[in-house]
Amino acid sequence: MISEKMVQFDRDHIWHPYTSMTTPLAVYPVESAQGTTIRLTDGRELIDGMSSWWSTIHGYNHPRLNEAIRIQSEKMNHIMFGGLTHEPAILLSQLLIEITPEPLQHIFLADSGSISVEVAMKMALQYQFNQNKSEKCRFGALRKGYHGDTFGAMSVSDPETGMHSLFGNSVAKQLFLEAPSSKFGESLNDFDRTNLHDFFSRNSHELAAVIVEPIVQGAGGMRFYSAEYLIELRKLCSENDVLLIADEIATGFGRTGKLFACEHAGIVPDILCLGKALTGGQMTLAATLTTTEVARGICADGNVLMHGPTFMANPLACAVALESTRLLLESPWESRIIGISEILTESLAPARSISGVVDVRICGAIGVIETEVAVRMSELQPRFVDAGIWVRPFGKVIYIMPAFTIKEMALKLLCERLLTVLKTVKNYPDCPVEAGVSIRQTKAT
Ligand code: PMP
Repeated sequence: MISEKMVQFDRDHIWHPYTSMTTPLAVYPVESAQGTTIRLTDGRELIDGMSSWWSTIHGYNHPRLNEAIRIQSEKMNHIMFGGLTHEPAILLSQLLIEITPEPLQHIFLADSGSISVEVAMKMALQYQFNQNKSEKCRFGALRKGYHGDTFGAMSVSDPETGMHSLFGNSVAKQLFLEAPSSKFGESLNDFDRTNLHDFFSRNSHELAAVIVEPIVQGAGGMRFYSAEYLIELRKLCSENDVLLIADEIATGFGRTGKLFACEHAGIVPDILCLGKALTGGQMTLAATLTTTEVARGICADGNVLMHGPTFMANPLACAVALESTRLLLESPWESRIIGISEILTESLAPARSISGVVDVRICGAIGVIETEVAVRMSELQPRFVDAGIWVRPFGKVIYIMPAFTIKEMALKLLCERLLTVLKTVKNYPDCPVEAGVSIRQTKAT
């Protein structure tokens, strides 16, 4: 049982994501989590609408995932990957290579999403360097994008929400495209087409790669964009000797209705980053996959890929990732996502008439309510908890992305309670952004 004193210790000493040590935000002590229910230490039960930042797609405490961890833990929890290998890493890599597009044949098992992005960026730079194109040493990225919190990943994330200004010249200056304005399900509009073409004609001589979150720009604003944008981008990358990195850390493993979001556009990236739902949200693990052409390019003339963290390919994480991916593939995941999508579409529709709501949009198992002005999280969060739901908004976005296993009743109840709270928020949406609470502190993931 967590005592009040322990919570006070947490408040005084422990950093939570994007928080301050002097004005901490409230945190709720969790006792346990089962399926799609989070149980707080005070006995309250919350329907989980976040799947722990896109990751726990099978829900919490799944017996098959627990068993995979148990069995592996009896053999070895960890072993260095330098000079040694193991079955979980090999079987997982085989499966990932099998389910991703055919040209992606080589894999690096990283220890978190941000690190897999760093590895992808290194792959692109080393590839271009070995092609005697050392001038191709910058990255193109989309405004409103998000790729992680390490320095390389931060440099290709939106400069404003990523607060590049806080870090001065330590963040590499990359080249940004306007965020796509062509909506998901629609054609590529002239504005985006012209932007893309102008961007490449101005910059491709110095671009090693362009990195995008396919279809869904997540933590930068939960924006869904046209598959045709990706088709055009793929074409321009190929024509201009620029690699395409697809960051599917958030979208991978079914979230958008396809196993990987690139499938909406039928494109194959040169480098693919996976994470989050890779382990069913049980442990930290990510992967960077690439083609034989890029792998050979990196390793030309006796060169090696310059990365190798201590915990890469951790056996426990690989074993649970293998089981989670098998579990997903054996499940009727496609029909589950369609079912979730339908419920979100129907249940969130009434939010359109709530004052201050400017958009309601759904893509796969993601439901988004966008407000005119940034929401006040310190006001909304306790109300959501009092209503028995776990939803964590950021900026102007209130969103739901549940586990794929959530029951129909629970999802409907979650949406109903969410809307009830939104309707009763006083002065909503005219509340100003809280002083001292930046977008970063309330970011999605
Ligand atoms: N890329 C995307 C698209 C993400 O959503 C995230 C996580 N929010 C990351 C990269 C970084 O992953 P991690 O938090 O595991 O470092």
